[in-house]
Amino acid sequence: MTTPTGEPKGLQAVLEERGFDLTGLRSKCSPVCPFESQQCCMARLLSQQDDFCNQTSMLEKLIEDAGHICLFLPKFHCELNPIEMYWGWSKYRYRQATKPNFAAAKEAATDILNSCPVEVIRRFINRSHRFLSAYRLGLTGHAAEWAV
Ligand SMILES: [Zn+2]
Repeated sequence: MTTPTGEPKGLQAVLEERGFDLTGLRSKCSPVCPFESQQCCMARLLSQQDDFCNQTSMLEKLIEDAGHICLFLPKFHCELNPIEMYWGWSKYRYRQATKPNFAAAKEAATDILNSCPVEVIRRFINRSHRFLSAYRLGLTGHAAEWAV
């Protein structure tokens, strides 16, 4: 990815070294690549290379080095993340709380976040696991929602 002097080689040089024909290929799509495109631009082509796909991110490494498991949930699937349900539970109660001034609002936020019972948090986690199970069984959209 870098020259012997430490300068970045750039997309084109890296792909040409790997034997790709880049004739007519732009460097990057704007604003984003078309969905499910394979070779729309150099950036997409490079992102599909094994060494890029399988590279551990700094965030993953930091989390795993601390002895934890790092899981990335799919984008736009908030139903798979129990923290979203917890936020929803807390925001509903926060809106109902009386907040005469900013200090009271801050205190109400902390109190409400700490007041969620463990049983309720377990239900959020179970609900996320039921969605995971439904998706693993091949259900999608409304069918998965119905099954959960
Ligand atoms: Zn693209």
